[in-house]
Formats: sequence, C-alpha cells, structure tokens
Amino acid sequence: NDAPVFAPALSPKEGAEAATALFREVFEAEPDGVWYAPGRVNIIGEHTDYNGGLALPIALPHRAHLALRRRKDRVVRLVSPQTREKVDVMDLDTIGPKGTPGEVAHWASYIAGVAWSLERDGFENLPGFDAALVSCVPLGGGLSSSAALECSAAVAIDEVAHLGLAGTAQEPDDAGRARLVANCVRTENEMAGAPTGGMDQSASLRCREGHALELDCRDGSVTHVPFDLAAEGLALLVIDTKAKHSLDDGQYGARRAACERAAEILGVELLADIAIEDLPGALDRLSATDGDDADELVKRTRHVVTEIDRTRRLVALLQDGRPLRGEKLAEAGRLMDASHESLRMDYECTCPELDVAVEAARAAGAHGARMTGGGFGGSAIALVDADAGHDVARAVADAYRREGFNPPAFLDAVPAAPAGRLA
Ligand code: ADP
Ligand code: MG
Repeated sequence: NDAPVFAPALSPKEGAEAATALFREVFEAEPDGVWYAPGRVNIIGEHTDYNGGLALPIALPHRAHLALRRRKDRVVRLVSPQTREKVDVMDLDTIGPKGTPGEVAHWASYIAGVAWSLERDGFENLPGFDAALVSCVPLGGGLSSSAALECSAAVAIDEVAHLGLAGTAQEPDDAGRARLVANCVRTENEMAGAPTGGMDQSASLRCREGHALELDCRDGSVTHVPFDLAAEGLALLVIDTKAKHSLDDGQYGARRAACERAAEILGVELLADIAIEDLPGALDRLSATDGDDADELVKRTRHVVTEIDRTRRLVALLQDGRPLRGEKLAEAGRLMDASHESLRMDYECTCPELDVAVEAARAAGAHGARMTGGGFGGSAIALVDADAGHDVARAVADAYRREGFNPPAFLDAVPAAPAGRLA
C-alpha cells in the first residue's frame, strides 16, 4: 500500500527562485520582480455566486508565481515550464477575445488577457512585458489554477504600470482589488471563454491569512471570517479526485440557465432574493408550472436557497468567538455534509469519485466533508483533526483503489495570504 501523495506548496522563496531562474534562462535578463497569486478552495456556498448568494473561500498556500519585466513596446512574451521550448509572443495591439482574429491560445490568454481587459477598463496604452510562470496550483483540479494565473498577472501589471489598485499583501487596497477582480473575471469569460462567476478571483485577491472570505456575490462586499484551523487543532484536507472535470461541456451553462429560468418564473432578479422562509412557497410555484423542466427548477432552486442559508449559518458559527470544538465543530461538519448532499441530490453536479471521497473521509473520522468548486470532478474537502489528515487521506486512497479509480492527490489547505509581490 503506497502512502497517499500530498502535493506540496512551493515556499515563497522557492517560488520566487524558480520563476526568476526560468525568466533568466529564457529572456537572459533580470525580472523587475516576482508576483504571486494563490489558488482557492471553497469551504461552503457552492453554485451560489452567479445567483447573487454567499460563498466562503480561503486562499491556498499553493500559488502561481510570475517573474515579470516591463517592456518599452507593446509585445508580451510568456513562458512556463510546460512550454519552455516555445515562448508565446503576442502584441497588445492585436490580441482580442476568444472567437475573434486576435484570439490568444491556451494559458497565455489568462495572463495577456488581463492587460487586454484593463485597457478596456480605462487603463489605456499599457506596456508590454516578458513573464515566466511557475505555478504549483494543481491544474484543472477545481482549485482555480486559472484564477491564480489571472490574479498574478493583475498584481504584477498593477505595479509595473503604476495603476495603484492592489496596495500590498500586507496593506491591501480592497476597493482597488475588487476592480482587479472584475478584470480577471472578464479575462476568464471573454479571453478564455469560460463562463465562471467571481468567487475564484475574489478569493485569490481579497482573502486574508488565517481567515475565510465571506463573499456576497450580489454586490462584491466581503467579510473576513476567523478560520485559523491550526490554532484550533484542525486541518482542511483537499482531495483532488483527478476525475475529468470540464465546465465547458454544457453542464455549468445548463445549471446557470435553469437558475435564471427559475428566477424569472418567481419574479426575482436573482435566486438569492428568495428568503429561506419563503422557499416552500417558491417551490410550490415552480412545481405548478407546466414546463417539463418543473422538477429540475425545483431542485436547482432548493439547492441554491438552502446553500446560501447554510453558508450564513456557518459564518455565524465561525464568528461567535468560541473555540471550534465539541458541538460547534459537529454543527460545522453537519453543514458541510448537508451541502454535499444538496449538491449530489438537488444540483446533481457530483460524480462517483467525489461521493466516494466524501463517504470515505467521513467514515475515517472527518468532522464534515463535501465536494468543492464547480463539481463533475475536481476536488473535495474534509475537515479533520490536525493529526488525522494522513489517516483520512489513506482511507480515501484505499477506497479509490477498491473502486478502481485513479489515485487521488491531497493538499493541506492552510488559509493563506492573498496575491502580492514576493521579491
Ligand atoms: P482550474 O481553474 O479548476 O484549475 P481551469 O480549467 O479553469 O481549471 O483552468 C485550467 C487552465 O489554466 C489550464 O488548461 C491552462 O490553460 C491554465 N493553467 C493553469 N495553470 C497553468 C500552468 N501552471 N501552466 C500553464 N497553464 C496553466
Ligand atoms: Mg478555473
């Protein structure tokens, strides 16, 4: 029996050195600096962002590191270890959204696209840049490696082009960062063509170390909620199922469309407008519609409204100042479990790998466990005692072996700092 594999986070020093070394090797110059942005994992509040609801992500210690040097022209050159042989070269004067002649290939769109978006947000004539990317956010694991790319580019461009939006990681300018978030979301939606909400970029740019970020997706307002797990003798285990997750095969769009139809029938702008007390009446109205999607609309709406309520309850629990132990810990675990159940039964966006991970983690002593991120693969999380992380990971790995799934990977999710400058 092999020991479970934990994906390590590069330390800030290692990240800065690796990105700088790649930059020197490829561009034969010194970068102006190294900037980073974290991946994220959501504690609760799933598929609520585009419904105007609440989410509760933390920033991961796993980060994208970007060594970058400002250029005198409008050229952008990008390299990552995966593409060392080939440097992507483009021009800020000719790049454009996906599906247009200026379309930018693959991962380069997540970085160059931020400059493109900022120019449309009023920061005209930005300088080009050379940049080397070294990221240890697992790719396509539902931990937002894509937002980490965008947000590292956002804080780097902010500084070398003197936009004055981000502040520093120590003294962040939250309003400025909210504007960077909007530009990173636009990058992901228009340049990369992925129709995602704003949770990922908000987490990467606006979290605080030792805290979760309560994000009100209606107006973008945030509250920093104490979540210093190590101090409570707890840990958050991330289980990367390695199952194929693709949000662009239409499932994500179908969920969003169902929520919009339900909101329209109920006469509200967003499903977050339905108070939990009014949910039974709202569900009655949806089941009384004669469309053949009535059952689907009932289930999707029930998930969204109850999930926002669970998020509100978990936030209140974490803010009450008492240690996260005993009945309080049990209640936090129940809220996470109920979230998974709702995503499995009502939102129908889990998969066997996610369900098995969650069941095995609970059976091995996790206080609560749920899928996290968009679903259909990606990652699950388990709230565990600090000294039990490896045992729970082993139990999940064993269950995967029994089921014949590919081996999962694990991460230790310590609530970490938001995007900023390293060196
Ligand atoms: P997630 O954000 O959940 O990890 P996405 O599909 O949204 O998954 O984003 C993954 C994409 O981000 C990849 O297909 C790639 O284009 C880009 N990407 C992320 N990290 C890297 C990296 N280290 N090097 C190159 N591209 C990356
Ligand atoms: Mg993503």
